[in-house]
Amino acid sequence: MLSNSLIEQDRAHLVHPVASWRGHEATGVRLLKSAKGATVTDATGHQLLDGFAGLWCVNAGYGQESVIEAATKQLRELPYATGYFSLGSEPAARLAARLADHAPGDLNHVYFTLGGSDAVDSTVRFARYYWNARGLPQKDQFISVQQGYHGSSTVGAGLTALPAFHAGFSLPLDWQHKISSHYAYRNPVGNDPQAIIATSVAELRAKIDQIGGPERVAAFYVEPIQGSGGVLVPPKGWIAAMRAVCTELDILFIADEVITGFGRTGPLFACEEEGIVPDMMTTAKGLTSGYVPMGAVFLSDHVYDTIADGAGAAAVGHGYTYSAHPVSAAVGLAVLDLYEDGLLENGRRMGARLLAGLQGLSDHPLVGDVRGRGMLAAIELVTDKQLKTPLPAVAQPSTRIFDRAWQNGLVLRAFAQGVIGYAPPLCCTEAEIDQIVERTRQTLDQTLDDPDIR
Ligand code: PMP
Repeated sequence: MLSNSLIEQDRAHLVHPVASWRGHEATGVRLLKSAKGATVTDATGHQLLDGFAGLWCVNAGYGQESVIEAATKQLRELPYATGYFSLGSEPAARLAARLADHAPGDLNHVYFTLGGSDAVDSTVRFARYYWNARGLPQKDQFISVQQGYHGSSTVGAGLTALPAFHAGFSLPLDWQHKISSHYAYRNPVGNDPQAIIATSVAELRAKIDQIGGPERVAAFYVEPIQGSGGVLVPPKGWIAAMRAVCTELDILFIADEVITGFGRTGPLFACEEEGIVPDMMTTAKGLTSGYVPMGAVFLSDHVYDTIADGAGAAAVGHGYTYSAHPVSAAVGLAVLDLYEDGLLENGRRMGARLLAGLQGLSDHPLVGDVRGRGMLAAIELVTDKQLKTPLPAVAQPSTRIFDRAWQNGLVLRAFAQGVIGYAPPLCCTEAEIDQIVERTRQTLDQTLDDPDIR
């Protein structure tokens, strides 16, 4: 009864993110009640393996006592401190220093935000400030990649290249440009890595020329692995090649590691394994493992120093009430301890097991492609493997596949085009990974029986 009334309250008053508002009114909410490790329990007592770590964020898994204790202690001691007026808190200073120590290259300066979207927004503001400080205000055009996701603010959603984030919102803005994704499975040049890299490099150069040359371009944004676009893994060397173009043409290279950061792909940051250092890097999600909100922008020495010198004695007018929130920072420190104390290592082993398990599903009639790195993976479903025919919209892949998996005790991400995404907590056991794969097979078999599929 209690649950029913909550469902009514939700239906009447709670506006859900990235949902069909009318669709949600019809289906109602599924209330989650509790969680431990990699398992979530809904309000009816149904237990499920969380194959998506919430929203690719609960990297450390649920119910980590050290994280709960760190947050509680900080709430008692100092629940809030502003960073304005040069005030601060112990956990924020400690976390910034530890993150700078771990970050690639000279990304030595950390600006804390509330999540990923405002981290991306901050980089746009910093990039503009940077070019103004260098006396090059005409460098005010920004480029990102098709299928990319960079948040849900007006600026970030414009850099994002997913139709639902533009339609009806009058986006993208006229200074926001896109080049094609590397998307190996459906790339018109085929899946040869060198051909994909050469085409992307040529396209980036052509786009820069089309905009008016490097003297007009402020920054280029990439996700080391495109997440919301369907877990698209670039060929080895793609990121480095794009970085090289930006270095050559004096364009800021900004890596959006909101999903890939904090062990999701194996190392603490995915840029490490690409062997590159971005000019700025955005993170969120795994930074606090979803226990409390927080994001962080990492600035390289030269970006930081240029802005600092450009401002001189004046304030750099960019700040949030909750920048460097002490409770979030305390959680960040506790989560970082877990990553260092074996969680990254476990994630790497479990990620390899997950990818191997999903590759074992390649013989299934619906599986067209299996891809991933670390604890980030996807399978792309097709009705004809030769023609790579996507699942028909009438089969409602995003809702029906999600529902079937849910019944089978698995939370996964079902994208509209028939791509299933995985991002389990890094604390998963071997048995849990095997169950994720097994429940996926069950879900695929049921999907094959859907009369709307063929
Ligand atoms: N960038 C990327 C790459 C993301 O995946 C996301 C969120 N999924 C964001 C930015 C925005 O982060 P948030 O939802 O925390 O605002």
